[in-house]
Amino acid sequence: MTLHNPALQAIMDKVIARNPGEPEFHQAVSEVLTSLEPVVERRPEFITRGVIEELVEPERIIKFRVPWVDDAGNVQVNRGFRVQFNSAIGPYKGGLRFHPSVYEGIIKFLGFEQIFKNSLTGLPIGGGKGGSDFDPKGKSDAEVMRFCQSFMTELCRHIGADVDVPAGDIGVGAREIGYLFGQYKRIRNEYTGVLTGKGLTYGGSLARKEATGYGLCYISDEMLRDQGDSFEGKTVVISGSGNVAIYACEKATSLGATVVALSDSNGYIYDPKGIDLAAVKKIKEVERKRIKEYLVYRPDATYTEGCSGIWSIPCDIALPCATQNEISEESAKLLVSNGVKAVAEGANMPSTPGAIQAFQSAGVLFGPAKAANAGGVATSALEMSQNSMRLSWTFEEVDEKLHGIMRNIYHNAAKAASDYGMAGNLVAGANIAGFLKVGESMLAYGVC
Ligand code: NDP
Repeated sequence: MTLHNPALQAIMDKVIARNPGEPEFHQAVSEVLTSLEPVVERRPEFITRGVIEELVEPERIIKFRVPWVDDAGNVQVNRGFRVQFNSAIGPYKGGLRFHPSVYEGIIKFLGFEQIFKNSLTGLPIGGGKGGSDFDPKGKSDAEVMRFCQSFMTELCRHIGADVDVPAGDIGVGAREIGYLFGQYKRIRNEYTGVLTGKGLTYGGSLARKEATGYGLCYISDEMLRDQGDSFEGKTVVISGSGNVAIYACEKATSLGATVVALSDSNGYIYDPKGIDLAAVKKIKEVERKRIKEYLVYRPDATYTEGCSGIWSIPCDIALPCATQNEISEESAKLLVSNGVKAVAEGANMPSTPGAIQAFQSAGVLFGPAKAANAGGVATSALEMSQNSMRLSWTFEEVDEKLHGIMRNIYHNAAKAASDYGMAGNLVAGANIAGFLKVGESMLAYGVC
């Protein structure tokens, strides 16, 4: 896509030239720069004083070797990353992803998006992201522990409660956070809130596990209510069956909707009577098995190999909660022709640019990831606050704060969109509202 502002286009060209072979990062930057066109028209100093050019360059990239020994006694070597993208409004904050597809470009795209998402929460957190090409799937607990300990042995030099606070993401859940925190504590001899998503017995926050999925439904509900609608009686399709998908399913169901499908990277289940979430939690959270196992609990449901077919199921609301670029333009058009009314992104960048275009031009309510899945990081920031105060809030207190934050995010993004002449476009609104706080802070710091 060509940008109208030549200075923004020059920055985009430089991003592509400097970061070759990183299409996900280019895609994320291009979307934000497109949204910022009307902002720099009104506030050219964001260009002339170098803010945008600094914004697209990470403050620091750490890349390291992660050697570990598997159960057969063989040495395995993975690659670890931490991208400390922007600390203008607080310590770097963002998850760790363990998945074979991880490379520098994925971590950069996620770290870049995190800047705006974290700003949108209204809390003092900068943007960062990390991970490894390690695949926890099929590994024993002992192997996962040895990998996590080796990963943290290097990472611990670069993070800290007031410096950089990682959390979970794909492939990094409660088990991995436990191993990572234990190793940090052991090497650094300090007990601080250096990671979020911790277990409840060692500094974790109630409602953190549920936060991304619940937050996704809270903001979707607010978006629907603004149009005089709600989740009540709606049919919902959710992709993925991990942390975000499971708790989105739980909250959507409690708001009166029927969730009829979930997936994993092998295939999807369709259960028109409504997903039996207790069965899914057992399969995914306890047994760590494939979603196909669902048929053992619900023989009347169907299982189909391949994940993209999930978008052919007719629904009122679609919540992509698996991974980036999982909804193609074709899938989006299929959803539209099957009558979808609202789409909100639980995963990061799950819709391709063509898919977003298809939703927006059909008038589908569209909640972009930066706004829609910000509940996870917002609650992580609440975990940091509790750790600093050495206090714990109740589930209800955290959940209520989360609900308020998600409502604010929706209204701030909607207002920014309308202030800049793009009423109803939450993609632009979230990018603009997220950027302004970071951009103003960067202006205040001068060139640095
Ligand atoms: P989990 O690892 O708990 O679950 C990921 C789910 O997505 C699994 O069902 C997995 O299937 C599926 N999946 C992963 N990669 C692919 C792929 N390449 N193709 C198809 N399916 C895939 O991760 P989370 O639920 O934590 O994260 C899901 C998404 O939400 C990610 O985009 C993440 O960045 C985003 N997110 C997460 C937050 C959090 O708090 N956890 C916060 C904000 C965003 P399988 O098991 O087969 O791999």
